[in-house]
Amino acid sequence: MNEAVIALCKCKKNKKLYGVRFERTSMNAWQYTWAFPIKEATARREGYEGTTITGNVEPAADYPGCPYCGSKYFVVCQCGKLNCNISDSGLFTCEWCGMTGELTIGIGDGIKTGKDR
Ligand SMILES: [Zn+2]
Ligand SMILES: [Zn+2]
Repeated sequence: MNEAVIALCKCKKNKKLYGVRFERTSMNAWQYTWAFPIKEATARREGYEGTTITGNVEPAADYPGCPYCGSKYFVVCQCGKLNCNISDSGLFTCEWCGMTGELTIGIGDGIKTGKDR
């Protein structure tokens, strides 16, 4: 089975949290295959930030999108956390660390994730 990890994403629409499951498809590439609502308390307990993934990420063909707004894409902040990408101004504010910045493509220094258990 492919290596799989979970990253957390916050939706801009209602500030709710969800988990995104990534599967490694090659040395330097990950595909995200699944998104599921998760409670903040559960997420804290699981501690989904012990490892960092880097490389290329892309949605699987049947990725269902954000459970709240349906977006299949997200912004990776410099803090390594994910935010739903619902912005039309070219700017985004990270729901995790509060940083405001320009939207950039790619995953920067990596995405903080935890093992899928
Ligand atoms: Zn969303
Ligand atoms: Zn951030």
